[in-house]
Amino acid sequence: MTTGNDKGKELDGIVTDKIIKSDEEWQAQLTPEQFWITRRKGTERPFSGRYYHFAGQGTYRCVCCGNELFTSGAKYDSGSGWPSFWAPATEEGVETAPDPGLGMVRTEVLCSRCGAHLGHLFKDGPPPTGLRYCINSAALRFVAEEPSGGSL
Ligand code: FE
Repeated sequence: MTTGNDKGKELDGIVTDKIIKSDEEWQAQLTPEQFWITRRKGTERPFSGRYYHFAGQGTYRCVCCGNELFTSGAKYDSGSGWPSFWAPATEEGVETAPDPGLGMVRTEVLCSRCGAHLGHLFKDGPPPTGLRYCINSAALRFVAEEPSGGSL
């Protein structure tokens, strides 16, 4: 038997970097809003999140585990009230799953590393993908690009 199974670092001998924590551990590290959205599939009120009207250059990471999820280069204003991206930073960074409810089946977007609920995926986005990753600000942590060039 391998060790560390409770943290998901090794499962049946296959090393992964999945992060698995208890609700208590997540609650200790997240704000109540962050916990409700990422671990309970909540949704922040539209136009309320910190990253909707935000145009910083950099990377959006998972607020739970730091996984790189989206980049500012694919962010656009969808008019929805939530930060919107036409593509994830990498195909591996996010996962999708059917999310039945509200009289329709939506597509849920999750962090592939820790399973955090991020938002939903719609097919009314702009070129080149036609996709809209509609993401809760509270599920994200923005990291600004390092300034390039010489020292100041
Ligand atoms: Fe995560």
